[in-house]
Amino acid sequence: MYVTNKIKSMSDFKFHLGTYNYKLLLIVLLMFTGYLPTVSSQAYFQQDVAYKIDVTLNDKRHELSAFEKVEYTNNSPDTLQFLYFHLWPNAYSNNKTELAKQLFTLKGREKLFKNPELRGYIDSLNFKINDLSVRWDYLPNQPDICKIWLNTPLMPGQKIVISTPFHVKIPKGVTSRLGHMEESYQISQWFPKPAVYDRNGWHPMSYLDQGEFYSEFGTFDVSITLPDNYVVAATGELQNIHELEKLNALAKDTAWKSIAMLGKVKHITSSAQTKTLRYTGKNMHDFAWFTDKQFNVMKGKVVLPESGKVVTTWVMCTNRQSRLWKKSLEYANQAILGFSNLIGDYPYSEFIVVQSALSAGLGMEYPGLTVIGVTKNAYTLDEVITHEIGHNWFYAALGSNERRYPFMDESITSNYQERYMTNKYPNKKLWEIILKKKKQAKFLHADKMPARQMEELAWLIPARNNLEQPVNLASTDYSSGNYNQMIYSKASMDFSYLRAYLGDSVYDEAMHAYYRTWKFRHPQPDDLRTVFESHTDKDLDWFFDDLIGTAKRLDYKIVRRENHRLLAKNNGELVSPVVIAGINADSICFEKWIDGFSGEKWIDIPQGNYTELKIDPNHVMPELFRLNNNIRTAGIFPKSDPVVHQLLVGIEDPEKHSIMYIPAINWNRENGFMLGLAMYNGLLIPKPFEYLFIPFYTFNNSSLAGFGKISYNITPYNKLIRLAKITFEGTRFGAPGNQNYNKLKAGLEINFRPNKANSPIRQKIYGHYLLASDLYQIENIEPVNMNSYIQLGYNLEKSSLVNPYNLLVAFESGASFQKAAVDFNYKLSYPGRNNGLEIRLFAGTMIRNTSPNSFYALAPSGRSGRDQYLYEGTFPDRFGKFSTSFWSRQMTMNEGGLVSPVNDQLGYSNWLMSLSLSSNLPWKAGRIGVKPFVNLLLNDHGLGTNQNSPFFGEAGFKIDLWNLFEIYFPLLVTANIQSINSSIKNRIRVVLNLDFSKQGQIGRGN
Ligand SMILES: [Zn+2]
Repeated sequence: MYVTNKIKSMSDFKFHLGTYNYKLLLIVLLMFTGYLPTVSSQAYFQQDVAYKIDVTLNDKRHELSAFEKVEYTNNSPDTLQFLYFHLWPNAYSNNKTELAKQLFTLKGREKLFKNPELRGYIDSLNFKINDLSVRWDYLPNQPDICKIWLNTPLMPGQKIVISTPFHVKIPKGVTSRLGHMEESYQISQWFPKPAVYDRNGWHPMSYLDQGEFYSEFGTFDVSITLPDNYVVAATGELQNIHELEKLNALAKDTAWKSIAMLGKVKHITSSAQTKTLRYTGKNMHDFAWFTDKQFNVMKGKVVLPESGKVVTTWVMCTNRQSRLWKKSLEYANQAILGFSNLIGDYPYSEFIVVQSALSAGLGMEYPGLTVIGVTKNAYTLDEVITHEIGHNWFYAALGSNERRYPFMDESITSNYQERYMTNKYPNKKLWEIILKKKKQAKFLHADKMPARQMEELAWLIPARNNLEQPVNLASTDYSSGNYNQMIYSKASMDFSYLRAYLGDSVYDEAMHAYYRTWKFRHPQPDDLRTVFESHTDKDLDWFFDDLIGTAKRLDYKIVRRENHRLLAKNNGELVSPVVIAGINADSICFEKWIDGFSGEKWIDIPQGNYTELKIDPNHVMPELFRLNNNIRTAGIFPKSDPVVHQLLVGIEDPEKHSIMYIPAINWNRENGFMLGLAMYNGLLIPKPFEYLFIPFYTFNNSSLAGFGKISYNITPYNKLIRLAKITFEGTRFGAPGNQNYNKLKAGLEINFRPNKANSPIRQKIYGHYLLASDLYQIENIEPVNMNSYIQLGYNLEKSSLVNPYNLLVAFESGASFQKAAVDFNYKLSYPGRNNGLEIRLFAGTMIRNTSPNSFYALAPSGRSGRDQYLYEGTFPDRFGKFSTSFWSRQMTMNEGGLVSPVNDQLGYSNWLMSLSLSSNLPWKAGRIGVKPFVNLLLNDHGLGTNQNSPFFGEAGFKIDLWNLFEIYFPLLVTANIQSINSSIKNRIRVVLNLDFSKQGQIGRGN
């Protein structure tokens, strides 16, 4: 077995060995050798690296040719037999790399690196150690990591020189962080680089898009040769006086700033003459450079508050978004000063903001340099620059393992960014970031919410869905949504909570000390904890063990008030401090922190003139439910919350009840034109109690029709069940003869927790009890009874972009029948696009059927409105006889799934099996919505003449319109179908994908 990138510590290593016996053997061995205490109990050390790289850019072929020498000093107490080196450009070399696999899962880009433009790699390597050839191997299936076997072991305290030539093919810059857009280059994660060896051993890691890095500190001496008219932004300090003078002259030339040159980027031919620029840097763990012939230059400086040292600041940007970028230098200077005041002096002598032509996220950090993409507005540009500047502390100087503990860099940085931005723009509202006009915000009742509440709203979506994960996991453990929502939103809020509890001065002192102690070193979570615990007498277990280490939920509640006491209750799992405030109008009269408690607790409240008591009025705690956080001191219903009425989808305020409205129109043949109103209590953030009502006034018969649904969601903590949903639904629409059909449904749906949060596989079971108008009586305009039905089912779904599938095992029972069915839908994705081969397999059998009505049996064709005894779907002409109107041709692709209408004439089946295939057309034709299809079916109709064959087949094409309509043309059919409908015209059917609820229908394909 070899070490994969997932292994970061000795305990992981034991786990990954797999078989139990192996593990036992290892433990016994470790006991004998006295190694059982983990390696991390060793004293701190860190390796030292000194790079010298000479690199030449070929901007015709988009290639680098280079030679690298790394002086590597073993400061560990261990003798090293081998080294791991990262060869990250190889992440782009084929479709089996960890990067390709991640992009495949997250973005569905299957054959990404088959395209030569998108492919990148590093080759021409010839590693030597102290000038002697050595054996080195790529790791199996990880061509972006190699293992170099040392000719002689490297003893503690010794140093060696590793050297190699290398050549890099630069991929087109649309995939991740390394790349070029024409002749604009983003050269990052580009050179052979040793993996970190620390207290926990080796940390080889493949390059990933979601997930960052971990590298050794050292010195860089890099010489870059390229055509003379390129402007270069690089990590470290430029050593060429002549080039520096050129940049100074460019910075003085402010002509570009006075013209509106939005988007005006013109091609400049590369000069034949080359130049060699030398950059040096120390206390750095990475080196990246960016170059473009179009860069404008701005230069400034910041005097650091503690040391008085001067930092030279630069901005290099093209004319693209130049209006926005005019102020970027000011943003950078202010943020460097702001963070230096909060955390300690900026760690380097230079800082560069460089604009990127690539589309790899909003911004990316390197030591003393940040690369920023296209931003929406000035505020966002400031915010992104601020965030990336924060990384000079939490990434560049405090070199934690970002891959294993993304919260140590991303979350703390996000928290400082949020604090700095709130300070700088105290009145910034959330709507200003997402909407254009205040009018719109007022209309949506979103004009008052502060910008900083964005974090909370983003986090509430996974939190209320019971999909939270602890924030101290590795980058690769998160789904892509959770990587953003847990690491950037939730964990950032966690640090605000800690700061509010400790107070700014204690928190800032602790963070200063953490920075001082761990600057240019590799801190781990316990190191952060030790520093914080040494700065307060307060117990911080709730923060480091529970808030960071678990997904326990926080929900305190006010029960009641008696004079100067308040009864509060902990409804959550987290036992953590809570802040209670007295509020008069909009101002806070007092704030009181109470240490965490479980169950109920009486809290003394100071006397004062306040109208409301509220838990956490400033939103510093990640409170899951805020409607139970307040109580007024007067009024009949002191615990009631404001109700917000709003049109359309609004931004929901977790402190208020939202009721939203949308006008709705509808039409069907019986009711005619209908006018109604959809009402619901918010869509974006799940709630325990949810409802949706769409009543309609019908103009044909002046009555009421519509649909309504209420549901109650149960979300137990950390249990096998993620979400149990209890629903009640009612439907009523018109039927022939001035009747109405009615349907009532009670359901329980149990969604299981996926065994891994980042797994695309979801499982659920459901049970429904239904009452529906008797279809036979409806069609024959007789007095109508309500029939009862039971449905039970199991659903297994893989909802990935590539090769998704859905398996439904269903059972249905009515008074006179029982049936069971399996319905399997699979999409075999084609390379690169959303296209694929869609396969549907259906098998069903009637366990019992004593009904005189044929339509309860299994339908060979997809059911049309007329034979749907459960009135599923939206049918404008549900009761129309086939082919009398356009809408009478409507069907749903369920049960047998044949398009040709054969249910009436050939009858229903006691059992049937069917296979349906449809596919996009190959190559570019796949983009248009025309798909050929083939449907095959076998049922229990006995063998006889041709017309009575149990084998049915049809082939044709379908047109897909906006994923809403599908029109099927069955051109070729078997004789039995032909005998019923000889003309193609009589076989054309339509499918309307506009259902309120799709699940739970027997034999339902989608
Ligand atoms: Zn970041």
